[in-house]
Amino acid sequence: MSEPNDLKARLMAQLEATIEQLIAQQPPSDKITLSDMERLVKQAGSEIEAQVLQALIEAHEATQDTERPLCPKCQQPMHNKGKQRRKVVTEAGEIEVKRSYYYCEQCHVGFFPPG
Ligand SMILES: [Zn+2]
Repeated sequence: MSEPNDLKARLMAQLEATIEQLIAQQPPSDKITLSDMERLVKQAGSEIEAQVLQALIEAHEATQDTERPLCPKCQQPMHNKGKQRRKVVTEAGEIEVKRSYYYCEQCHVGFFPPG
């Protein structure tokens, strides 16, 4: 279970790392141009978007673990096969999230629950 404070701490740590990276990538201050600044800020911005989205998805996922979805074919509770990495395409680009994967031994169907 992920507490909101854990989420905040995690986000703060990720944002700090991204901001440190942005500062480290800046050209020397006598050489930097406005377009350099724009490029750095845009790059950091989309990294931050993806990080925040990923953290929110995983925090949401952590609250869903108690519910076992029913198999769409036989309506029996499916088995949780543990967390699997899944690529998700978002407006912030492609991100990788850990999601619970469920599988029905009877029907040999598996899926990632929506949401
Ligand atoms: Zn089934």
